Amino acid sequence: MLELQTPVQFVKGVGPSRAQDLAGKNIHTVEDLLYTLPYRYEDRTRFCRVSDLQPGAKTSILAEVLTAGLRATRKRRFRIFELAAHDKTGRIRCKWFHSEYLQQRKIFRRGQQVIFHGKFELDPYGSGNLQVINPEFEILDADAAVSSRDSIEMGRIVPVYEAARGLGTRTLRRLIHTILSSLSPVPETLPTAILERHDLMDRRPALQESHFPSPGTRVEDLAARRTPALRRMIFEELFLLEVGIRWKRRLARKVRGMPFRIDPGLLRAAGNFLPFRPTRAQERVLDEMAEDMRRPNPMNRLLQGDVGCGKTVVALQAGAIAMENGAQVAFMAPTEILAEQHHHYARRLFAQSGYRIGLLTGGLKKADRNALLEELSQGRLQILIGTHALLEPDVTFRKLGLVIIDEQHRFGVRQRFNLMKKGVHPHTLVMTATPIPRTLSMTLYGDLDVSVIDEMPPNRRSVKTHLLDDLKRSRAYRFIADQVRQGRQVYVLCPLIEESEKLDLRPARKIFEHLQGQVFPDFRVELLHGRLKSIEKDAIMKRFAAGRSDILVSTTVIEVGMDVANATVMLIEHAERFGLAQLHQLRGRVGRGPEPSYCLLMQGSRTIGPEAVQRLNCLRETTDGFVIAEKDLEIRGPGEFFGTRQSGLPTLRVANLLRDRRVLETARREAAALVDNFDSQKSLGRWVAGLSSGWQARYGLVGVG
Ligand code: ADP
Ligand code: MG
Repeated sequence: MLELQTPVQFVKGVGPSRAQDLAGKNIHTVEDLLYTLPYRYEDRTRFCRVSDLQPGAKTSILAEVLTAGLRATRKRRFRIFELAAHDKTGRIRCKWFHSEYLQQRKIFRRGQQVIFHGKFELDPYGSGNLQVINPEFEILDADAAVSSRDSIEMGRIVPVYEAARGLGTRTLRRLIHTILSSLSPVPETLPTAILERHDLMDRRPALQESHFPSPGTRVEDLAARRTPALRRMIFEELFLLEVGIRWKRRLARKVRGMPFRIDPGLLRAAGNFLPFRPTRAQERVLDEMAEDMRRPNPMNRLLQGDVGCGKTVVALQAGAIAMENGAQVAFMAPTEILAEQHHHYARRLFAQSGYRIGLLTGGLKKADRNALLEELSQGRLQILIGTHALLEPDVTFRKLGLVIIDEQHRFGVRQRFNLMKKGVHPHTLVMTATPIPRTLSMTLYGDLDVSVIDEMPPNRRSVKTHLLDDLKRSRAYRFIADQVRQGRQVYVLCPLIEESEKLDLRPARKIFEHLQGQVFPDFRVELLHGRLKSIEKDAIMKRFAAGRSDILVSTTVIEVGMDVANATVMLIEHAERFGLAQLHQLRGRVGRGPEPSYCLLMQGSRTIGPEAVQRLNCLRETTDGFVIAEKDLEIRGPGEFFGTRQSGLPTLRVANLLRDRRVLETARREAAALVDNFDSQKSLGRWVAGLSSGWQARYGLVGVG
């Protein structure tokens, strides 16, 4: 009998080399294998006949191989592997690109029965025959081709797994089948009351059904992950994730921090140094933070707000509260330029206050650095602003009371904690302009309370966005010339610096040379890119900020935080190559002053993919960061949207935060009730002990028991 914790090498059919392949996929135990779920299911009770294939349809067919081999093409050294196959009703052709291994390893032979899965299309060169490009395939054993009743390959709904090196879908299928047929009883992970309340399937049958669905299960339901079995698996994963989050939150709430004295006079003082009236949203957020910092346990707050909504000011107001309470402030930003900008801004804002404000970046001279750190550790410096350089071990504060992290999605959770460790449970404020839908932010930033600035400062002009292509380039240049003559400044954004052979891109340097040399010889054009020394970068940015250059050709190094109110045009080359969030950030660099502003999205001359079209259209239609974030999430899916490094979340095996948002809500509610109702750590620990140790680690429940 196999237990969930049994190492995979004890499963029949797994030798040392296969165990290694499995380990490469992070599969070490029987349980890991069982939680490797199919990514699709195939109904092999009946196949589509070749004569019934609809062009454009994605489906599976069963056919017999006629011929197979590499074929040369007109392009030298570019060969296609081609295969012809037929069933009783007709012929199809399969083509694979970059798949020489099919030849080398002699995968196909005449007469084989093979299942092909893919999108069948009319062959553009053929005689009305259908072809399929890069289909998935599964070669059937000679005797399995005829459907037999207890086959796991045929005559039923068959699971298809993500194949990896040395691990085909069939291998996985067989291993999992073996496990399921010799598995000891598995402990239930979900409390009975929850199973009953939400009508969830028990764990054992859910595992069985998720891999080998009973006859009669609808393939569409499986594909949408809404069968009872899959629903249970998804709930389980999200529930345990939320228990972990809730648990960590409960721990954080118990910590004693540094309660600040905050009275109306102090709050007024924190507002006095502003050169403008804060927006209502800014006032509200300051109140929320003040309320947090007054309490004995430390503030843990995420401040969300679109680019340009004025987060920095509010953060510095929180800083003022800390400093009035005799505490120091650490303010970390992802780039030197941004750190400098904050430094500059803070100095201006606090010019009358007598607070001492320092800037620490990687480029600082040794002597200056030492002097700065000395002041800091003695408590003579009140605010230290800087980059990752703040994290270095010799940076010590005398009394760190508030940690501020700008553009927090650029940092990992670990970096946040490392900065916090430089104080004794300081208050923490993290900021982001990448808005995240609320349902998700509660999971991604579960240990944080969330504030939102949902209002722009008055007199902001919204940015007009246009989509252009090469044909309209000269018009775009005339428009730019016009703006510069009116005294405005312009950004030209490009994806790369150097010419790249593979990609047909207009690199930044080429564009710069062209613009300065031919298009705008009378204007002051500068080139900014990531490979410059930071001193040079700074000088270029400063000249632009001071109005001593007109056009800044740049790679995305300016993406974050540049604040030049006189810049009114953002031209983005190869806009189709940028992500939605990034385009939104880039566009946020203009529209910061009283003049009307424009974002020109220049698409590369080639045709662009459907996702890119969606992105560019979305951008043209809205400037609302939340709408854009939702769309981004929809296009890209949450996996990519939030790198796990940033969020600190485990990669999900079954659930999908976007697709399963409703389940997520329910799971979160139940998790909160469970964690909050356990009166002691011990009773919660007893429950957690029932989960396998792998799960405890995975969902952050290690310290509970
Ligand atoms: P972000 O939220 O993108 O970090 P910033 O804090 O950099 O935005 O603010 C953008 C600009 O708006 C800054 O120049 C800032 O001085 C200005 N600003 C912020 N709040 C207000 C306000 N209430 N009224 C007028 N200008 C403001
Ligand atoms: Mg900012």
